Amino acid sequence: MLSYRHAFHAGNHADVLKHMVLIQLLRYLNQKDAPYMVIDTHAGAGVYALDSEQATKNAEFDTGISRLWERADLPEAVADYVGLVKAMNPSGKMRYYPGSPYCAEKVMREQDRLRLFELHPNEIKILCDNFEKLDAHAAAQGQRPAARGKRVMVQKADGFDGLKALLPPPSRRGLVLIDPPYEVKQDYRRVVETLNDALKRFATGTYAVWYPVLQRPESRQLPEQLKRLPAKDWLNVTLSTGAPQPDGLGLRSSGMFILNPPWTLAPLLRQVMPWLVDALKQDTAARFVLETGEGGSSASPSSEA
Ligand code: SAM
Repeated sequence: MLSYRHAFHAGNHADVLKHMVLIQLLRYLNQKDAPYMVIDTHAGAGVYALDSEQATKNAEFDTGISRLWERADLPEAVADYVGLVKAMNPSGKMRYYPGSPYCAEKVMREQDRLRLFELHPNEIKILCDNFEKLDAHAAAQGQRPAARGKRVMVQKADGFDGLKALLPPPSRRGLVLIDPPYEVKQDYRRVVETLNDALKRFATGTYAVWYPVLQRPESRQLPEQLKRLPAKDWLNVTLSTGAPQPDGLGLRSSGMFILNPPWTLAPLLRQVMPWLVDALKQDTAARFVLETGEGGSSASPSSEA
């Protein structure tokens, strides 16, 4: 059941899309001083060593962050994301990759709160260790007080269930990231059920769901089900780096579905996605699709390999 380890996939094209969008959602929240809460229901290990046995097994980062590392022409939102990854690799060599908890912790402010859920016994241990190291590093530099304590809390619990007790956040401002492994069919169903419940508790929250774009019916149905949820607005962006592989192995496409997105996100993605498709394309089937609840959608033509 809990066999998924994100280290095998760290820094791949799907992480690029997910973490770039996550950072931009937080930048938007940062525009107002009022505090907000970030809830990451499936946190993973927090930081990944790209030279580990797991990460190098299929070197999936070669389809993602590696392709952006040396580029000097990054659009602003991509530069923001790559800058965050580079900041954790001060030697200039790409060695560590930040997971969603680390991305969030770096972008949120002193007054904001981060709540992390993770079920895997190894992943939660690494996650806690990583936040302890962050604390020690910050203290050594005379920077802000401990990352843990009130500001960041980690729970070994089911993130779908744990979310309920946190909504609505006291400040009534919040972002929820839902990023399950989807190794079991139930994850698709639980995403929809969880969001249905969450919207009743906190209708104005922003919810970001990462999902794999696969042929299996659950994957194809998920965005359609999310569009029917009673949120005020939604945005769906998918990034395909190439045609599905004949053996079905190796993820080529993924999506981020946002409920109650900031109004700035669609225009930003319309600018960034063509560049990203070109930078990450693996063959001529590479493309993006951007749809919004107001009915406006954009799609790229197949980009040239
Ligand atoms: N969000 C992370 C990131 O972007 O860096 C990656 C998360 S990974 C795709 C999914 C994680 O969810 C795995 O570490 C897995 O152990 C954990 N997990 C699986 N089912 C869970 C559940 N019901 N509640 C909390 N964590 C769960």
